[in-house]
Amino acid sequence: MKKNSIYFLTIVLSILIAGCSVFKAPSSKKDESSENAAAKEEEKKGDFTAYDEVITEKAQTDSGLFIIHKVEENYYFELPDTLLEREILLVSRISGLTPNLSFGGAGMKARSQQVIRFQRKDKQILLRHVSYTNVADMEQPIYQSVKNNNFEPVIQSFKIQTIAEDSSTVVIEADDFFTSDIPLISALNDSQRKKFKVKRLDGSRSFVQHMRSYPKNVEVRHVLTYEADAPPADAEAGTLSLEMNQSMIVLPDEPMMPRLADNRVGYFSIEQYDYGMNKQKAFQREYITKWQLVPKDKEAYARGELVEPVKPIVYYLDPATPMEWRPYLKQGIEDWQKAFENAGFKNAIIAKDPPSEEEDPEFSPEDVRYSVIRYITTPIQNAQGPHVHDPRTGEILESDILWYHNVMNLLRNWYLVQTAAANPEARNVEFSEELMGQLIRFVAAHEVGHTLGLPHNWGYQLRLSGRFIAFT
Ligand SMILES: [Zn+2]
Repeated sequence: MKKNSIYFLTIVLSILIAGCSVFKAPSSKKDESSENAAAKEEEKKGDFTAYDEVITEKAQTDSGLFIIHKVEENYYFELPDTLLEREILLVSRISGLTPNLSFGGAGMKARSQQVIRFQRKDKQILLRHVSYTNVADMEQPIYQSVKNNNFEPVIQSFKIQTIAEDSSTVVIEADDFFTSDIPLISALNDSQRKKFKVKRLDGSRSFVQHMRSYPKNVEVRHVLTYEADAPPADAEAGTLSLEMNQSMIVLPDEPMMPRLADNRVGYFSIEQYDYGMNKQKAFQREYITKWQLVPKDKEAYARGELVEPVKPIVYYLDPATPMEWRPYLKQGIEDWQKAFENAGFKNAIIAKDPPSEEEDPEFSPEDVRYSVIRYITTPIQNAQGPHVHDPRTGEILESDILWYHNVMNLLRNWYLVQTAAANPEARNVEFSEELMGQLIRFVAAHEVGHTLGLPHNWGYQLRLSGRFIAFT
């Protein structure tokens, strides 16, 4: 099969407006510090309910990026002071999908990735939405203007329920946020609401399934139920329920050194206006999206020897993947090893079967620490290769490829139509397992390529009005 036939596969671009490693999106941290000091003074007066009256002995506690408590029916976030103001990536995925909702599948992102921060305001914690459209160096006077002109929307206000004895953490109740109709984490966009005649979100039928805290991320699984006159399935029910997975991942302490985009080399990229650049205009920077590979042995790498990266790119197969296709999907992933060898890395990208419960009890395909090829059973004939990246630098942090079972039908059609005249093997309604396996391997490699930051291999690309115009 010729490579260009695959151009028909849809891709999901995670191109977002972004910032860079040195320059920051506007934050109001400095302004808050005096208010926080005042608030802490208040705390000494015992204005808050005692900690053990809120987080009682019945609490089930999970520690990580921040602490999660489940006390009977309620969930609480215990946020350390050190996490306040930190930029956190929010990735909203639909983990439980209803038929005919959209051109997607379980594991698909409900919207492009967002950045949030928790911020203290007296006795409240605010959840702010952070934009990386406009940035500047915090030390420069112009930063103040960037800040004033990019005021961060307040998504939610949480009342502080209690504080730790040493005032190092604050506790907020989290259920309401995940059972209310909040656009930033909702399952539906405006056009879907219109199409399915959604009247409202029913909080009484929306609930948190579970929350888990890991060292770098917190995962929240919740169900949102909407009243709808024309739901995409089960019309009689007048109801649309979707299961969501919200990943909150703290951005790396040390941002990766970004690489400037060059129109002559095709990469997905991120853009930002950087007002700290001492240019006589609103200067736009563009960085490519890429994984950060660091050689284990830097000296050997410098000598031109093949070395392993400190942290290889690992793709897991979905536990739902049929056994017969697993070897081919894994081959498609590891086919990229050769490309990395040309860049001096061996075993840079590795395919793995889903771990058993004993091997890794925390494994979850939605967990942002794991890149997974999600296996989706809908009639859609496609595959998609999106990724999650650090909006400051373009560093790809994770990726979940969406793999539709029915892509095999598309592959059969293509291969038959394009090669059957000269290829007896293709003159069948059903292909042999080996042949279909090779076609699957080819699409797996294609989608992995997208998640490495590569768009289609156009003849060349021309930037025009901020969009790629393609010529083949
Ligand atoms: Zn593609």
